[in-house]
Amino acid sequence: MPELRVGVLAVQGDFEAHARILRQLGAEASEVRTPEDLEDLDGLVIPGGESTTIVKGIESAGLEPALRAHHEAGRPILGTCAGLIVCDSEHLGFLDATARRNAFGRQLQSFEADLAVTGIGDEPLRAVFIRAPWVESHGPEVEVLATYEDHPVAVRQGAVLAAAFHPELTDDPRFHALFMAMATSARERSERGEVAR
Ligand code: GLN
Repeated sequence: MPELRVGVLAVQGDFEAHARILRQLGAEASEVRTPEDLEDLDGLVIPGGESTTIVKGIESAGLEPALRAHHEAGRPILGTCAGLIVCDSEHLGFLDATARRNAFGRQLQSFEADLAVTGIGDEPLRAVFIRAPWVESHGPEVEVLATYEDHPVAVRQGAVLAAAFHPELTDDPRFHALFMAMATSARERSERGEVAR
């Protein structure tokens, strides 16, 4: 199978770190700034940054219809930190979940924790939280993959994977590898001519 083509939304935020990990895992990573950049991608990463800035950037670049088409085609999306917020039901609505911004409060703006994450093996994942959200509420189709102090911090709904932390800021590639596996099976399904999701 030719390389997976994964785009990283490059409106604002830490897109370069994601592209580096995706390349390490064998993907062809590209920056997404225009609707055309979203054509024929096998997966898309919406990185961390500032969710309000990212939402405005999506709007001013006219990216929303192409993002919706990508989602509706069942092509995987990984949202991290602000990217999780952008995917929630108050923004693009790719997740039946609401995120609480800066949820850990002023005392605990940035911290690291070892998390058990479903789907990446038994070894805990070192997670870097930076002014992170958590998932405040979610519907039954949202699978919680990891929690921190009882708050969901990694979730999956169909082809959408999201984390409140920054898996691109450590050298453990397992979270991105999970996403690449989702993108691989989505591409196999579409090559077999199966309908999305
Ligand atoms: N606090 C940011 C927001 O609310 C998210 C921080 C991040 O992505 N590291 O958008």
